[in-house]
Amino acid sequence: MLRCPNCNTHDIGRVGTNQFYCWGCFIELTVNDGKISSIHQVEEDGSLSSLNDLFLGDGEQDSISL
Ligand SMILES: [Zn+2]
Repeated sequence: MLRCPNCNTHDIGRVGTNQFYCWGCFIELTVNDGKISSIHQVEEDGSLSSLNDLFLGDGEQDSISL
C-alpha cells in the first residue's frame, strides 16, 4: 500500500497512470517501477513545486507496493 513519505497517511488517491495525490498534506507523488520518482507540492494557485530534494535526496529509496 502506498504511503505518503511526508505525512505517512494511506489516504492517497490515484490521479493518473503513475500519479497519486495525498489528501493528508496535498502533495502529488509520481511513481515509476514501484518507487516514488518525484514529489510535488500543489500550491494554492495550482502550480507545482518540487519536494524531491526533501524526500528523494541521494539516499536509497524505499520500495513501495501499490
Ligand atoms: Zn501526505
